[in-house]
Amino acid sequence: MQMIHIVSNRLPTSISKKNNKLSFKPSAGGLATGLGSLYKKYDSLWLGWPGIIPTNDDEKNEIKKNLVQDRMSPVFLGKDDIEKYYEGFSNNTIWPLFHYFTQYTHYHQDQWEAYVKVNNIFCDELIDKIRRDDIIWIHDYHLLLLPQMIRERIPDATIGFFLHIPFPSFEIFRLLPWRKEILAGLLGADLIGFHTFDYGRHFMSAVTRIAGHEVKMNRITHEDRVTQVDCFPMGIDFDKFAAAPKKQAVQREKKKFLKRLTSSKIIISIDRLDYSKGLLQRLEAYDMFLRENPEYLEKIVLIMVVVPSRSQVANYQDLKHQIDEMVGRINGEHGSVGWIPIVYLYRSFSFNALSALYSIADIALITPLRDGMNLVAKEFIANKKDDKGVLIMSELAGSADELGEAILINPNDQRDIVEALKHALVMPEEEQIKRNLEMQHKIKRYNVKRWAEDFVERLVQAKELQNSLKIKQLSANSTRKIVTSYKEAEKRLIFLDYDGTLVPFFKNPLDAKPDNELLEILKALAADSRNSVVIISGRSQEIIEEWFGELEIDLVAEHGVWLRELGHTWEMIDSLSQDWKKDINPILDLYVERTPGSFVEEKGYSLVWHYRKADVGLGELRARELIDTLNYFTGNLDLQILEGNKVIEIKNSGINKGRAAIKWINREEWPFIIGIGDDWTDEDLFSAMPDQAFSIRVGFVSTLAKHNIKSYIQVRKLLRDMID
Ligand code: UDP
Repeated sequence: MQMIHIVSNRLPTSISKKNNKLSFKPSAGGLATGLGSLYKKYDSLWLGWPGIIPTNDDEKNEIKKNLVQDRMSPVFLGKDDIEKYYEGFSNNTIWPLFHYFTQYTHYHQDQWEAYVKVNNIFCDELIDKIRRDDIIWIHDYHLLLLPQMIRERIPDATIGFFLHIPFPSFEIFRLLPWRKEILAGLLGADLIGFHTFDYGRHFMSAVTRIAGHEVKMNRITHEDRVTQVDCFPMGIDFDKFAAAPKKQAVQREKKKFLKRLTSSKIIISIDRLDYSKGLLQRLEAYDMFLRENPEYLEKIVLIMVVVPSRSQVANYQDLKHQIDEMVGRINGEHGSVGWIPIVYLYRSFSFNALSALYSIADIALITPLRDGMNLVAKEFIANKKDDKGVLIMSELAGSADELGEAILINPNDQRDIVEALKHALVMPEEEQIKRNLEMQHKIKRYNVKRWAEDFVERLVQAKELQNSLKIKQLSANSTRKIVTSYKEAEKRLIFLDYDGTLVPFFKNPLDAKPDNELLEILKALAADSRNSVVIISGRSQEIIEEWFGELEIDLVAEHGVWLRELGHTWEMIDSLSQDWKKDINPILDLYVERTPGSFVEEKGYSLVWHYRKADVGLGELRARELIDTLNYFTGNLDLQILEGNKVIEIKNSGINKGRAAIKWINREEWPFIIGIGDDWTDEDLFSAMPDQAFSIRVGFVSTLAKHNIKSYIQVRKLLRDMID
């Protein structure tokens, strides 16, 4: 059976020590439940910190022995590691920053170093246990460097990473001094999962801007690998929460609660103690509601559960004091003998008690300022199967994406929360049930088991894509085959694209002038009378003539509009009209105005909008808009719109590199043909080439070409190998 290794900071267990005796209690959190469904298909091992620092080797061994029975393996950390890596870098740097709390974010070099060290410790522990075909699934913000650390030691490993907290926008992420290292760490994975599409979008934007890798759709190409990014909104154990209200134990809890409450309407709020949860803002809004709507005094109650968390950290202690104070003030101000507006419970509850709370609640008031997902909201809705109950939900929590039928509020807007409470209190029961049914439908289907299965299925697919690209990677063997076939052939046809293929991709197109090394290679190829060399480019005829006019080679410009055979002058492939330019030019001018850094190039028979110098995000956005606009306007014109690398080109239809290449291919019998290109426009060339020809695409993307190659450097090397 294939093995899956789950890696997270904490193991799903709690170990306590009393009178020098250890006791073990596995904890059934959401993640553990979700992963449970994988165990049918895979053997599993869960690696993580056991939450305890053993005092001697005997204790260590006892922990190991006990955990192994539950398919867990401990990573032991020292006190200093925990302080600096966990409480320090993880919870004092990444957590606040990724939740947009820059004011609480600390940047300490020693904590960063501890973070690197602990990620390395995890890597060492894991490496010993991995076999070749195993799957590794790493979880959360404590282990952002681990994917690349494993990749360096096992290049073929199948590695998935899931982030359980938000990934912030580029403007926030760029504040981090170690932003490059964090991105490089994550990119070691084959698949990176986020709760929402927006978090993934933020990540890809950071990758393009900071790491400079190419991102297309949800694929990041870097070095000789592709990392895929996708969203997997984490779910809950729906059936368990939906069945809870009928359980006797839950009903008993429910009765206990109701006996002590006098109010007719119950609002609940349940969170861990954390500044990201918007607890103070929520209390302020409730205060405002009570002041403005005195008719509800003594008729409603807010049961506010705050689960203790990170209680050693100073700003968490401050927050706790502020909540204590504010609850006291509100209760003192609005309460009366026999009624308090807030029942404040600073503790955690069992599943049964929690389910009873969901059950008795008329309204759940969940208003985090930021939250990766927020499972409480989903649990509340699951609990309301066939039942009434209104969810008031922050639009800044990941789960808001799936819970669109809730009353969505901006958690910073007290007025919005007050209005939502008023709305919820008078919402007809049928409407409540209807909204809940729609939300239940979504969260039932994509429950936590489906979430886990979906992630692993996609990881396996991502790996398959990776492998298929790898198979196509030009190996030493294939290189030898090409060189031998070249040497043996009496007639050779060589198509070479220019930008990105023979020279790097330059921001400024005029910087791409051929250098001496390249000119030497081309001259040497041309000097052999058995060779026909064709530079087949999208560049204008003038530039191609200026740069290569002196060489004894054939030339194709403007993606096949213009051809120049050796010994002849430039010729157009067909007689083409240019009338359409006057209609398209004003549209492109508008996009130049709207996209600083972009510009229009007019070629003989095409117009090109370049955005390689524009801001990356804006350029991509405007490119999509421009394509939409052009598709609309060019409907009646005989034009095609080509998308190249940071360019959009409009030209007469039916013109492409493939059609131009055919002119040479059909001229005679060629025992050797090779075509090398780097972008979308070269795919036409590849598809026009006969079966026995060699075709190579620069960059690791899906292609019709037979091989992929890393960069122009390897292309030049191959050409030199052929000549030598
Ligand atoms: N929870 C619990 N006991 C409590 C309060 C909460 O077991 O007294 C659980 C709750 O069922 C939920 C989790 O804690 O599954 C909180 O997850 P959420 O995503 O809402 O917030 P997080 O704490 O992860 O930020």
